[in-house]
Amino acid sequence: MDFSLSDEEREVREWVRTFVRKEIMPLEPEVLRRERANQPGLPADELKALQLKAKESGFWGVQTPQEYGGMGLSAVMMALIEAELGRSFVQFRFGGYADNILFHANDEQKQRYLLPTIAGDRKSCFAITEPGAGSDAKAIRTSARQDGTDWVINGEKTFITGGNEADFTMVFAVTDKEKGANGGVTCFLVDRDAGWRSEPIDTMGEWGPAALVFEDVRVPQENILGEVGKGFELAMQWIGRGRYALPARALGACERLVGMAIEQANTRVTFGQPIAEYQAIQWMIADSAMEIEALRWLVLHAAWVVDQGRDSRQAQSIAKLYGGVKANEIVDRVLQIHGGMGYTRELPIERWYRELRLLRIYEGTDEIQRRTIARNLLKGHATVSGTLG
Ligand SMILES: Cc1cc2nc3c(=O)[nH]c(=O)nc-3n(C[C@H](O)[C@H](O)[C@H](O)COP(=O)(O)OP(=O)(O)OC[C@H]3O[C@@H](n4cnc5c(N)ncnc54)[C@H](O)[C@@H]3O)c2cc1C
Repeated sequence: MDFSLSDEEREVREWVRTFVRKEIMPLEPEVLRRERANQPGLPADELKALQLKAKESGFWGVQTPQEYGGMGLSAVMMALIEAELGRSFVQFRFGGYADNILFHANDEQKQRYLLPTIAGDRKSCFAITEPGAGSDAKAIRTSARQDGTDWVINGEKTFITGGNEADFTMVFAVTDKEKGANGGVTCFLVDRDAGWRSEPIDTMGEWGPAALVFEDVRVPQENILGEVGKGFELAMQWIGRGRYALPARALGACERLVGMAIEQANTRVTFGQPIAEYQAIQWMIADSAMEIEALRWLVLHAAWVVDQGRDSRQAQSIAKLYGGVKANEIVDRVLQIHGGMGYTRELPIERWYRELRLLRIYEGTDEIQRRTIARNLLKGHATVSGTLG
């Protein structure tokens, strides 16, 4: 068994690590200042400038297939990249990205939606969650009624990431109530100027999701993504596109946070000695290091299973669940080691504390991951022996 990285993986990781250290981390004080003033931490034009800088070195469309001008990197490589990006709370992502399900677009839709999204000229959002349907996504009620060659959409979506900025949405609506999620849900590409509106939702984090409202929004038949009635499969494909990437980012955050805790432990003196001398502090650091190590291998393993083309649902759910739970425990310990300073806004720890909390909720809550893991075992789709069998 070989746990080492290939030369290529090492090179890519080093490049991203250097980029984060030189270009992203220096922005942190200003990003924090802006966020505290209720402004976007990294405005769109600054994000774009950074993305173009990365592009000069070839980092563009990291997971976009090469035929669309991307790098088409493997899942393991993506996990390594996400972990490096996670070392900073600045919400940077490489340019040249498009949602995986947009690649199901037909040729004409590709020209209107996919290619401009990859180029960074258009912004999408993925809208399935509703006020009455989150974990139970099959319970969505937003409807699309056929009227001649058009469809008329009515309903409300909620918590839609990027919904305030998007100029089109991939919205999921019931087109056959009888069939529901079994052949009665369809995905529509809907431009903002077709008439839907968004309302920002204030959260405890720096994420600004939106509620989307559809009142008799009319779209032509040509705007159906994929096939009528096949929307639910597309939604599941979007959600399953790379669950390992979320805990991968958290892994990077945890590595940085524990680094801060070690420094604090070595320098903060109480009762005449550094707090690093106390077993209570050492155990928090030891437990965190152990969990980071476990998380690293769970994430890389899940990504490896994806690259093997095998069913990765169990591995991804385990990595997502463990990452969400442990990242929250780790940031809490790091805050504790910093004492009162950890609770202040002078340090970014409280920011990470708020942001990491989201990991236990979106793209499948802890409870839903547990449900998936248990069901896979109980139905015999997976075994506790894991990949090695
Ligand atoms: C910041 C943010 C961004 C988001 N971005 C998007 C987005 O871009 N697009 C999108 O469509 N959605 C998005 N979501 C929605 C997100 O996916 C849902 O919030 C999530 O799936 C949980 O659904 P819910 O909030 O309705 O909670 P509910 O489903 O109501 O769950 C409430 C509680 O009950 C538990 N629960 C539910 N069912 C079960 C069960 N069977 N067994 C045990 N426990 C259960 C849950 O785990 C949770 O603890 C986002 C959410 C947030 C907060």
